[in-house]
Amino acid sequence: MTHLSGFAALTLGHVVLGHSADCLQHLRLHEHVHVRQAERWGIFFVPAYVLAALWQILRGRHAYRDHPFEQEAFAAESAQCSKDAHSS
Ligand SMILES: [Zn+2]
Repeated sequence: MTHLSGFAALTLGHVVLGHSADCLQHLRLHEHVHVRQAERWGIFFVPAYVLAALWQILRGRHAYRDHPFEQEAFAAESAQCSKDAHSS
């Protein structure tokens, strides 16, 4: 999840909502990770996402930046950025 009232894009199942085409283009890889997570977790995705966010807060960590689902999406973004940097 990344600006619908604070998020630039939001994934709901296989649907990615964004503020603009530019936002969607920029965040496509990140949001596709969330689509795969939603496929993997099925109906448990939203409860798992919320519980993991609460767990981060209870541990004194940031609910979004330290969230394991977001960490996976950030890692995919970083990997793609590294690939792009090496291919140009
Ligand atoms: Zn995200």
